[in-house]
Amino acid sequence: MLKLEGVAAGLVGLVAPPRCFFCSAPLRSLNPLCPDCEEDLPRWQDPRCLVCGRGVEEGIDLCRECAVEGRPYAAARTLGPYEGGLRRLIQALKYEGERALARPLGHLLVELISPPSTQGPGNRKFIPPDPLPSLVDLVACVPPDPVRVRERGYHAAELLARVVARRLGLPFRAVLRKRRPTPPQVGRPREERLTALQGAFVARRPGQGETVLLVDDVITTGATVAEACRALAEAGYGDIYVLACAQAGED
Ligand SMILES: [Zn+2]
Ligand SMILES: [Zn+2]
Repeated sequence: MLKLEGVAAGLVGLVAPPRCFFCSAPLRSLNPLCPDCEEDLPRWQDPRCLVCGRGVEEGIDLCRECAVEGRPYAAARTLGPYEGGLRRLIQALKYEGERALARPLGHLLVELISPPSTQGPGNRKFIPPDPLPSLVDLVACVPPDPVRVRERGYHAAELLARVVARRLGLPFRAVLRKRRPTPPQVGRPREERLTALQGAFVARRPGQGETVLLVDDVITTGATVAEACRALAEAGYGDIYVLACAQAGED
């Protein structure tokens, strides 16, 4: 018994205490970000565009893009612009195997759409007057590229969607799949991205008007989300709400 206790004590000494992803401060919880670094992430401030959720000037309901162009979803919300710490976290989650980052990011996404009563002061309602989670039937994610999943062993958007679903007490369903591989989207002109993705996604099973909360890591041109919405609508799913960690510029 004594011997075992000694071994256990030795192991405790060997395991490094968890440290903040950004500043290396020792952490007291499982959250890989310390409260200060989490607070420092770039975030949209109110007011936000009612449709796509990015920050807009006071007195304006819609951003420039949403004012001139219809969106394929009912509403989207993102934490902030794709820059600084948010960009760093998303890249680490997507490309560097830092799966643990899905948890804090997923929790922040849930806060974004939860009624204010559960999170103290502040008005972060998804879309007034209804708190969104009560409208949603299932949580889904943009479908992964099978080749990339084989290489990395996971799909960042799915990790996020599962965290969101669990936190909201809603089912996660992998309703979409990719029909054919598509070239990497980064650095390609918008028109090219739109054409490359056309018809690339398909629903695994028909829907019956379910309201879907579609989760992605970052919205760049919106081409991926648009294609996912098209596939869901075609299969008979109902309203689609989009939730992503960050929103890049339109171009
Ligand atoms: Zn920190
Ligand atoms: Zn907008």
